[in-house]
Amino acid sequence: MSTFRPVCWYCGESYEIEPIYTCRRCKGTLEIHYDYEQICSKAYFTRLAASSGSEIWRFRELLPILPEGRTISLGEGGTPLIRTNNILNIANNQSLHLKMESINPTLAFKDRPLAVAITAAAQFGLNEVVCASTGNTGVAAAAYAARAGLRCTIYVPESTPEEKRSAMEQYGAVLHTVEGHYSDAYRVAEEMAVARQAFNLTSTYMNPYAVEGNKTVAYELAFQLGKVPDWIIVPIGAGPLLSGIYKGFKEMKLAGFTDKLPRMAGVQAEGCAPIVKAFHDGEADVQPWSGPAQTIASGIADPLLTYPADGTRTLSVIRESEGIALAIADAELIRYRRLLAEREGVLAELSSVTAVAAAAHMQQTGLLEQNATVVSIVTGHGLKDMSAAINHTKGSVL
Ligand SMILES: [Zn+2]
Repeated sequence: MSTFRPVCWYCGESYEIEPIYTCRRCKGTLEIHYDYEQICSKAYFTRLAASSGSEIWRFRELLPILPEGRTISLGEGGTPLIRTNNILNIANNQSLHLKMESINPTLAFKDRPLAVAITAAAQFGLNEVVCASTGNTGVAAAAYAARAGLRCTIYVPESTPEEKRSAMEQYGAVLHTVEGHYSDAYRVAEEMAVARQAFNLTSTYMNPYAVEGNKTVAYELAFQLGKVPDWIIVPIGAGPLLSGIYKGFKEMKLAGFTDKLPRMAGVQAEGCAPIVKAFHDGEADVQPWSGPAQTIASGIADPLLTYPADGTRTLSVIRESEGIALAIADAELIRYRRLLAEREGVLAELSSVTAVAAAAHMQQTGLLEQNATVVSIVTGHGLKDMSAAINHTKGSVL
């Protein structure tokens, strides 16, 4: 008897452990439910907090893989948490910490979900994986597929930075450029996964197994801080990282390991901000972004054209956490990228900088409480989109 199963996030229909993406009854996206009574105790987390392991696999009981069998790993997880000294104004005893997901094996947080998804693919006995990607998912998928000996085909939009394309090819993946933006690549990957009977690793809420890898950020944060932060600020495209982190904290609360939950702030770029728009308009549902997706933050430039429900799912988590959604202008991203590098020694990719700029914005507008402990997730390394920075200094960013 397995301790987990895919369940429809919308209607609650339950499924077998299989390569499945949407509910056969209502077409909604799925999430993994666990037998929490069996797994999730205060003692479980207390023991892990005291353990010396760092990889995500120490949380194996709360990941959707079978208890037996090999895991496909490059040493992902266990990333540093560092406190900033010079980003926030010294006021009201507020502190900003950076969760350095840029230190993962392929320099982005995506190694967590992709390690889990590729391990699941291997356990399902599949030979091929596909995904749509703006870059980081594709690089991680290619690396872990190489590690597992699986064929990997990736569909990228035209805006994907050259550094990321080259990396995918170095890992041996087959790369196809799709005309248009991320939503167009998403649609092609979806069709090809069906046609080729390949596991679809696209990192929206498409793959419920992959999404679970994001939870491990929450466990690590609680252990590293020794408490639950007041705010966690996450760059979001569709937003499974934000939802995953919140789920991890809910699991720790359910287990009695913590007694509070963080408030979640989702950040998008002003030039493509469908979730932020719905949040500020007080809408229940996210609508696809109607204008052109124009931002230098290519990693989160997702207009959600054919899957706005994914944005609604993230919006509902933000609201459940009493959080906020906010957007940052490209000019601020350039400014804060430089600031973060010069003042803290952290080179972050432009999408990640949204979370740091947002922390400063939240302080300046009085959104942070006195003594607030804030964590911004540095989702990817600045080396992965250096061409955007270089082009900017030449005056031709967009
Ligand atoms: Zn359903």
